[in-house]
Amino acid sequence: MLLGSHVGMSGKEMMLGSVKEALSYGADTFMLYTGAPQNTKRKEVSELNIPAAQALMEEHGMRKFIVHAPYIINLANTVNAETYDLAVMFLQKEIERTAAMGSDTLVLHPGAHVGAGEDAGIASIVKGLNEVLTPECKVHIALETMAGKGSEIGNRFEHLARIYDGVKWNDKLRICMDTCHLNDAGFDVKNDFEGILKQFERYFPLNQIACIHLNDSKNDQGAAKDRHENIGFGTIGFDALCGVTRIKEFADTPIILETPYREIGGSADKLAPYKLEIAMLRSGMFDPKLFD
Ligand code: FE
Ligand code: FE
Ligand code: ZN
Repeated sequence: MLLGSHVGMSGKEMMLGSVKEALSYGADTFMLYTGAPQNTKRKEVSELNIPAAQALMEEHGMRKFIVHAPYIINLANTVNAETYDLAVMFLQKEIERTAAMGSDTLVLHPGAHVGAGEDAGIASIVKGLNEVLTPECKVHIALETMAGKGSEIGNRFEHLARIYDGVKWNDKLRICMDTCHLNDAGFDVKNDFEGILKQFERYFPLNQIACIHLNDSKNDQGAAKDRHENIGFGTIGFDALCGVTRIKEFADTPIILETPYREIGGSADKLAPYKLEIAMLRSGMFDPKLFD
């Protein structure tokens, strides 16, 4: 299994720091944002310290990592033309940065229709993806399954299938499954992940899943909320999430934790839980006392 978490990228070390952070968690993969997820301020590719990062990855046999596009990209916005135009322009640059860093997967939230309705939103996403995807594109855009908060598109596999249907170079598309989002969208992750995969296979072969976001949820199934919880501490629970990591079709698929920082060992500050969560998932044993 390939297990990791999202990591930072900042300071002098930039991407080298991201790889070091992942290694410190005992991870064999990771996910990063090319800058703050809430804004579009980005450094030049030449300032990301990519060669040193790639050398350290190679030294440790790390082969794959994932890039996540910022949340403010909303291709589904038909209400504000500026938002859509910015999304297309920024997504184009994110594809270039992802390729330059050496990842072949850029995770993207499909978007929110902001009141214009699902059909208009999906049509707009298709239009935007058709503006950025070409046959030469070296990067796959992995559409993330969403919780359905607000007017989010992507809480149904059918939405993602309609996007695939409309995109000309849809061999450049992939899917990112987020377990918290699936739970909040109404799927029974806790008791029947196999059943979810069967539903998925009505639309896509399983090899379209290029990334899994492994998160527990603070909310009940179907809450449409999107609040991540630490593995084993939420409504999905450890056993179901650990089971996802053992599915043989996902043996070479990056599984990424996006669980919240928490107080560990009575620490004053909230700390990254990933080292402990990765160790628990590898061992198959939930031990909440590790966090005390
Ligand atoms: Fe995401
Ligand atoms: Fe996610
Ligand atoms: Zn989320």
